[in-house]
Amino acid sequence: MRLVLVGVLLLTAALLVASAAWAAGPLPPNELGRVMILEYHRIDTPEERWTRTPENFRRDLETLHARGYRLQALNDLLDGRITVPAGTTPVVLTFDDSSPGQFRYVAANGGVALDPRSGVGVLEAFIAERPDFGRAATFYVLPGASRPNRLFNQPEHEGRKLRFLVERGYEIGNHTLWHANLGKYGEPTVRAQLAEAQVWVQRHVPDYRFRTLALPHGVYPKNVEWAVAGTAKGTTYRHDAILMVAGGAAPSPFARAFNPVRLPRIQAVERDLTHWLQHFDRHPGDRFVSDGDPAVVTIPAALRDRLRAPLPKHLELRAR
Ligand SMILES: [Zn+2]
Repeated sequence: MRLVLVGVLLLTAALLVASAAWAAGPLPPNELGRVMILEYHRIDTPEERWTRTPENFRRDLETLHARGYRLQALNDLLDGRITVPAGTTPVVLTFDDSSPGQFRYVAANGGVALDPRSGVGVLEAFIAERPDFGRAATFYVLPGASRPNRLFNQPEHEGRKLRFLVERGYEIGNHTLWHANLGKYGEPTVRAQLAEAQVWVQRHVPDYRFRTLALPHGVYPKNVEWAVAGTAKGTTYRHDAILMVAGGAAPSPFARAFNPVRLPRIQAVERDLTHWLQHFDRHPGDRFVSDGDPAVVTIPAALRDRLRAPLPKHLELRAR
């Protein structure tokens, strides 16, 4: 019992020291550090393997903010446009499967209002309190799934929700039409699943194009090319990145190790999140820290051989 107590105290002390280290001043820029792409599934009660409660999700946001993480849009990250302020670390939020608790409207004053206990409600409320956190997340939706995973399970509000996400600067990503395991099917079905998901979303948000794909169950098709780009049912699709369901922190988009076709994610469950936050506290050199200028890539001179070559032309390199 006493040992457990000592353990808890030590852990608390370590966490305090870690946030104090960030609060003591901005970390030196290192744009070759790794980035967490967090993967949420259900936001609901009770907490389970694939469910984060609204309270715990809120706590995740508080923890990330307090430790110097700021929201980064995935599409900008892919373009090498790091938009978070100097001395902070980009973090990407992703939500898979468009389950009801991720985004819900409730009746209010004769109309509807965002449910403050849904994922988007928690996120929007936190951003309103802490505008310096930024606003970004990618929603990997299932437009043709059966209930309750079809576009957040309120058919009368489907279009309104998708438009809300796009208007607010969130991203919508491809997760296939109905969560097809792409390893099980031949080329025509794989391509149809990817193209049709886009067509169904475009019924609500005309011309919206997915730029990224999150693989259902993390399973690749027999030929990865089928998932990258193609045409089916009269529609063309192209994915600039393919996200896996696991794999840890992602390499910097400026690192040679960065492979957009195999982008790893961290499941946003208590154990994994704690593990990675502690990892970056113990190994601050592994953590991506922004220089605050989206047009400049600042790296420690000693890490120059890890740099991807060539860098996109619009980026200027600075070694420190
Ligand atoms: Zn999924």
